[in-house]
Amino acid sequence: MNILAVDIGGTSIKICLVDEKGLTSNFREIDSEAMKGGPYLVENLMKVIEAHYSGFEAIGISTASQVDSDKGIIVYANENFPGYKGMNLKALFEERFNVRVKVENDVNAAALGEKFFGAGKDFEDFLCLTYGTGVGGAIVMNSTVYKGLNGIAAEVGHLVLHPGGVKCNCGCYGCYEMYGSTTALVKQAMKIDPKYTNGRKIFEGLDEGDKRLETVLENWVLEIATGLVSLTHIFNPPAIIIGGGIMEQDVLIKMVREKVLELIIDSFKDVQIMRASLGNKAGLLGAAALHM
Ligand SMILES: [Zn+2]
Repeated sequence: MNILAVDIGGTSIKICLVDEKGLTSNFREIDSEAMKGGPYLVENLMKVIEAHYSGFEAIGISTASQVDSDKGIIVYANENFPGYKGMNLKALFEERFNVRVKVENDVNAAALGEKFFGAGKDFEDFLCLTYGTGVGGAIVMNSTVYKGLNGIAAEVGHLVLHPGGVKCNCGCYGCYEMYGSTTALVKQAMKIDPKYTNGRKIFEGLDEGDKRLETVLENWVLEIATGLVSLTHIFNPPAIIIGGGIMEQDVLIKMVREKVLELIIDSFKDVQIMRASLGNKAGLLGAAALHM
């Protein structure tokens, strides 16, 4: 079965064909131009699909924003996607392409990608966390994503870990992602030297021997591990899969794993902290997996 997989992000949209083995072909990446609005984004995407793809039997869509995946509707989108909220992607794409369409939010889709084709293959249950601008999360239970009442469960980025702490975009104070996201790391590193504007530059600085960064990194790992320890105490999961560009750093996975094991209750120590294995293709493969 050939599935057209689409991964809609804030800056770009990835598109490819995926077969049942997870092999991808005809990969293409276009600017999402999200600021031009949801209707523009969708129409532009449809035109690209019409121009370059045929012969697919279903469409799977992974998208930024909160999604009612039963109905295929965007229930909430932030200010970077004006006019996206309320759009029924499922209905629009089914009408245009006359195939079955499924829609899921990007973090859940990435978790499904890891479940079917990546690091989660051997697990029926696991947690999946992504560290980037914020901290995203998904709960995989019995090989499916746990949704909660409104389909938005596992907003782990908004675990409140520091009561009265830094104000978060969500309106709460002291949320996990204000301390454990890559954004939070960069913010602390830039206090040392404004040149440390992203994760890659921070790790280059560490390689070049900037000792001041070591404390920053250790404090950040402590924040990450603290969140993972609480989640492990709640779910007692066999595995936690962590992803996001910065987690490509081998030393980081090792540091996080060691800190978690140091802080956790003894009886929970079987948890495996693993790196996501699909990189930026997780969303695409997860979008395809919606039909598998
Ligand atoms: Zn928050």
